[in-house]
Amino acid sequence: MDPADARRILEGERDRGLQDIAATASLEEIEQAKVSLLGRKAPWSEVQRSLGQLEPDARRELGRLSNEVKSALDAAIEERRSALEGSAEDELLRDDRVDVTLPGRRPRPGSLHPLTIVQSQIVDVFTRMGYRVAEGPEIEDDWHNFEALNIPPDHPARTMKDSLYIDVPGLLLRTETSAVQIRTMEAQDPPVYVVAPGRVYRREAADATHGSVFHQVEGLAVDEGISFSDLKGTLEAFAKALFGPERRVRLNPDYFPFVEPGCQVAVSCFLCDGVGCRVCGNGWIELLGAGMIHPKVLENCGYDPERYTGFAFGMGIERVAMVRYGVHDLRLFFEGDVRFLERFEGVA
Ligand SMILES: [Zn+2]
Repeated sequence: MDPADARRILEGERDRGLQDIAATASLEEIEQAKVSLLGRKAPWSEVQRSLGQLEPDARRELGRLSNEVKSALDAAIEERRSALEGSAEDELLRDDRVDVTLPGRRPRPGSLHPLTIVQSQIVDVFTRMGYRVAEGPEIEDDWHNFEALNIPPDHPARTMKDSLYIDVPGLLLRTETSAVQIRTMEAQDPPVYVVAPGRVYRREAADATHGSVFHQVEGLAVDEGISFSDLKGTLEAFAKALFGPERRVRLNPDYFPFVEPGCQVAVSCFLCDGVGCRVCGNGWIELLGAGMIHPKVLENCGYDPERYTGFAFGMGIERVAMVRYGVHDLRLFFEGDVRFLERFEGVA
């Protein structure tokens, strides 16, 4: 190779190389430029290989130039590489950036079902008065559901029309939680102070105020010297605790086979304070059935009715929830519609 050609090639490669390197836009392009400028087939390499055939003076001079070109290209490649690496890292950081000033995503809290809320509110009132919670089976036998409660065989409640019997003779889905009272009294001696919340079943077509499944809380107190005024005082305390300190209760005579006397209990309306409004009509909201336990029921459970007296009361949880939250259709409680259930977020 002619030394003048070799010099021209080296200088040309340096100029082309510095431009190419400056024009690269990625680490891949840098690698390609490096191969094309300094790789085995690159013009610079050809000159390098031919140096040995030159005269010593030309070899020395061109050897120095060749080294300078290589150093210049190497330096430019390194500089460009680190610039591109830096911007790749910047890009990565930009993509992964976390804006700590953005508001956080709050977890969306669920809520208890309104019937669960009301049931625990009712139960809480009585447990604070010293009652304990009792539970029993939802499939009951005739004795606990009817007979022991002084409901005679010819009572209309026992017909197929009102009760849901199962295939096993003598068993049915309990029609009220009163059966739990019998089981409790059978299992322990007086004094007894229990509330029994739970699900009950009736043979009824579903409409805005009826359903074949609903919930009750029943209460039972048996002790020496319990009188009707204890019943009234207890229900008054309950009404005030649940609906506010201004509430009064009103008792009207009513008949239930397992109590004597029996009464229907109304609470003065918490919306209009007894004046009369859209919710209550005449100022009173009927909420409970209650009464003094029939001596025969006590006897059926092995208690001495000469020594012990007691009272019982029961209320529908759906009824209380409807009044409390202004719900007009019972079916809303069972449909699981999230738009309805969302109204109870944060209610406890
Ligand atoms: Zn009212």
